[in-house]
Amino acid sequence: MSKTHTELQDELAKTDVANERTWSVEDAEKTYRVQRWGNGYFAVGKKGNIEVTPRYEQPNLNIDLREVVDEMSAKGIEFPAVIRFHDILRSQVERLNRTFRSTIESAEYEGRYLGVFPVKVNQMREVIEEIVDAGERFDYGLEAGSKPELIAALAYNTNKNSLTILNGYKDEEYLRLALLGVKINRKIVIVIEKFSELTKLISLSKELNIVPMIGLRVKMMVKGRGKWESSSGERAKFGLSIAEILNAVSLLEQEGLSEAIKLLHFHIGSQLTDIRAIKEAVQEASLIYSRLVKKGVPLEYVDVGGGLAVDYDGSQSTNDSSCNYSIEEYIADIVYGFKQNCDLEGVSHPHLVSESGRAMTAHHSCVVTKVIGEIHPRGVVYNTRKETGEHIIVTNFREIESGLTSENHQEVYNDIAQLKEQAMQAFKLGIMSLEEMAKIEIIYWRILGGIDNIIQDLEFVPEELKEIPEMLSSQYLANFSVFQSAADSWAIDQVLPIVPISRLNEKPSKLCSLVDITCDSDGKIDKFIGDETVATNIPLHSLNEGEDYFIGIFLTGAYQDVMGDMHNLFGRLNEVHIVSYDDDPKDFYMEEVVRGSMVKNVLSTMQYTPEIMAQVVKKEIDKQIQRGKIKPREGVQWIDFYDDCLEGYTYLK
Ligand SMILES: *Cc1c(COP(=O)(O)O)cnc(C)c1O
Repeated sequence: MSKTHTELQDELAKTDVANERTWSVEDAEKTYRVQRWGNGYFAVGKKGNIEVTPRYEQPNLNIDLREVVDEMSAKGIEFPAVIRFHDILRSQVERLNRTFRSTIESAEYEGRYLGVFPVKVNQMREVIEEIVDAGERFDYGLEAGSKPELIAALAYNTNKNSLTILNGYKDEEYLRLALLGVKINRKIVIVIEKFSELTKLISLSKELNIVPMIGLRVKMMVKGRGKWESSSGERAKFGLSIAEILNAVSLLEQEGLSEAIKLLHFHIGSQLTDIRAIKEAVQEASLIYSRLVKKGVPLEYVDVGGGLAVDYDGSQSTNDSSCNYSIEEYIADIVYGFKQNCDLEGVSHPHLVSESGRAMTAHHSCVVTKVIGEIHPRGVVYNTRKETGEHIIVTNFREIESGLTSENHQEVYNDIAQLKEQAMQAFKLGIMSLEEMAKIEIIYWRILGGIDNIIQDLEFVPEELKEIPEMLSSQYLANFSVFQSAADSWAIDQVLPIVPISRLNEKPSKLCSLVDITCDSDGKIDKFIGDETVATNIPLHSLNEGEDYFIGIFLTGAYQDVMGDMHNLFGRLNEVHIVSYDDDPKDFYMEEVVRGSMVKNVLSTMQYTPEIMAQVVKKEIDKQIQRGKIKPREGVQWIDFYDDCLEGYTYLK
């Protein structure tokens, strides 16, 4: 960061001294809405650091995230890194199951809740293990949507009383694996997504003489709301229409397998932002269930799929990255909805299954990284002193700058836009030098900065001037890859909360967007939590010389953790697993450190052979040594350096 820029920022800060004194962690909370998206797990601590309360039943157990980061630094763990809070996973699993249980009890609902975790949301072994372990006493199971996920579920969902629900398209091998599950006493439910799967299943079941539980996924009429609304409706890619369901029932009756039909499944989309969609889906599904039961189909379970949303932006609204309901409301609508409709239809209450993935895992992990630089149009130092004989436009710019007042700022804004245009033309005509253009650039940005200072104190800002703060916003360069760590931010404009993990007792002094270290203009985050809508930048602190500035990307535990790609070969992040521990002075210990990708690993996955590459480079260095261009001792150092880089972390040091 250039010196003049720091000075400029200091000046900006001084004009705000009064505000500075009154800035408190409460203001930080308002700015970043930590408690609102934090779901009880995250807050701004008194010291101005992010505080984590990983067990919702132990509100006094608080972990200072800055202390975690400092301990990681002390251990030499490089950033960016994923921090996982296993207690949050457990807490969420308990919250879901306990809430279903207590709602079922108070509603006097006759069925049980037998939830499953959809593996696709986070396939990491440690995550699956923790969820299965935390869910054991609730008979909480797993859902698989592909063959590899089923293979994992068979090995990890060993609780004989919990369900293993199988979704996704299935080939014969997938079905055979499912039947293996039945053989080893698992409560396997094969959900038919496509009619042809049923004929395959029937013949296989007869061949092996194994009868599984069969689920039927219904293509619902009701549409989800939000980004995934195409998961339901007539054109949905999954599920059976009503006619196909009736055909499936007759076919299974003919084959003497009708007793196997145990579950009715629907899934109207992920991240359902509006509770009304859930109410409508429950209404529709309970009617289909009731009518089928009355026809004699021996259904015992209704699976309501996923969709329980996460309020990423803390707005409690129907924004795409939010939702207008709580987990309690969601569960109450399901339990009471089925009770009411089944009572009306005079059928027994089914056991309830849900496949909530996002809501179970989103909160438990975050990515912490450092800001390593700033890209800013005003950050450039260049001498703008008057020269004799300089072009008149340069002189004009200089005069406009010195004449800027709160009275004429709007006029000035229009004038400099026009002048800049004229300067460009003069340059094209060859009557303006590169040096003069450079001066104009610098003065132009200085004037904009001056106008920005003026409009900050205005009650009313004219529409055309509203773009100025944005034009002046900084880009903070952070050591991470959007494509690896926040794929949905890039792909579907998902808003993820981004907050500095310390200095929250200090007023942030600039608006920033974030750019990553990939060589891709798309490698950036410019969707942030805003007042009413999504903001394109976020207030952050100015960087202090010689001091690390850590930011956290939060709620990355669902999908983001596992969807990352290899863009620029950055690969997986270093990872630490934090476990809360009451008796520890810091309330936590680091249970495990999982090393992220080494350069040689990511090269190997792209079919390179790092050993051969090292040999090639060594040969080249040897040649230069023979020619006397490199001294032998120096040559050895270069060879070692290349080797070390192959063994090193892919991200910036
Ligand atoms: C993706 C998916 C889920 C998980 O949905 P969330 O919104 O993450 O809870 C559940 N069931 C099915 C069939 C899915 O495809």
